[in-house]
Amino acid sequence: MRNSSQTKSILLCFAMMLACAYSVLAWSALAQDRVPIVTTTTDLRSLVEAVGGDRVEVISLVPAAMDAEEYQPKPQDLLRLKNARLLVRVGLDYDLWLDRLLAQADNPDLGRDGAGYVDASFGISVLEVRGLSVGPGHAHGLGNPHYWLDPKNAEIITSTILEALARRDPANVSIYEANRLAFLARLETKLSEWETKLAPLKARPLVAYHNSWPYFARRFRLDFVGFLETKPGVPPSPSHLAAILQTMRARAVRIIVREPSQPERDVAFLAGKAGASVVTLAASVGALPRTDDFISLFERNAEALSAAASAQ
Ligand SMILES: [Zn+2]
Repeated sequence: MRNSSQTKSILLCFAMMLACAYSVLAWSALAQDRVPIVTTTTDLRSLVEAVGGDRVEVISLVPAAMDAEEYQPKPQDLLRLKNARLLVRVGLDYDLWLDRLLAQADNPDLGRDGAGYVDASFGISVLEVRGLSVGPGHAHGLGNPHYWLDPKNAEIITSTILEALARRDPANVSIYEANRLAFLARLETKLSEWETKLAPLKARPLVAYHNSWPYFARRFRLDFVGFLETKPGVPPSPSHLAAILQTMRARAVRIIVREPSQPERDVAFLAGKAGASVVTLAASVGALPRTDDFISLFERNAEALSAAASAQ
């Protein structure tokens, strides 16, 4: 015969099992309830999460440490697109590889005219718009696509995201609106901190490996005077490196900006010759430690640049 403490522990065990089963069910119901969203980049994922909060489940296709302009889609990307209700892309030919993937995914909702298709460049004033580009290095053909690197552009991008979420999940639009306003208020406070932090760099010319920074530079009044790549997407040639070195000496450039996915060799060579320091910046959320979301991306980059400037 069981004593009462045995009975109690059996009952307790049973109660715990029930509670456990209930929480698993509740969790999966919540997960099913969330709007499944695919973004091409981690930056857009972070901005969709800022608006969507816990109402959305967001996956970004390009891993943080990879160059999105050179990305080769994987088989699992196709499955992700089949299951998504919303797709958010950078546009401006930055994620051109997405078009073929979309054609294969056979999810008409996410096609260019579908209710689930979002080009986040909508409404952005594009910098460096030129005519048709020809020859090698087709990147930046429609103008410079790195527009999320002006943190102020998040106002426009999140407004486009809000509209799309309102279409897909109208019942929760007030939650999305409140999330967006809270995020923009936090960003506004941070923006003035970053402006203060980057003020000492205003008079200092900079050089970068790839031309990712015109929007960032315009916001914080920085001056990029040259790029190691011969053209966007075309690796440096010896004669181009010689010309950049000349510019660096003539303009007294003391900082070269490199992104983690870019080769180190030519950057280190130029830095040595010109007596400059190399600052590694993240052009995308997650590309470096402590860049886990849109705001910490700028926080870390502003810190790295201001540390390099004050060390000189
Ligand atoms: Zn680029």
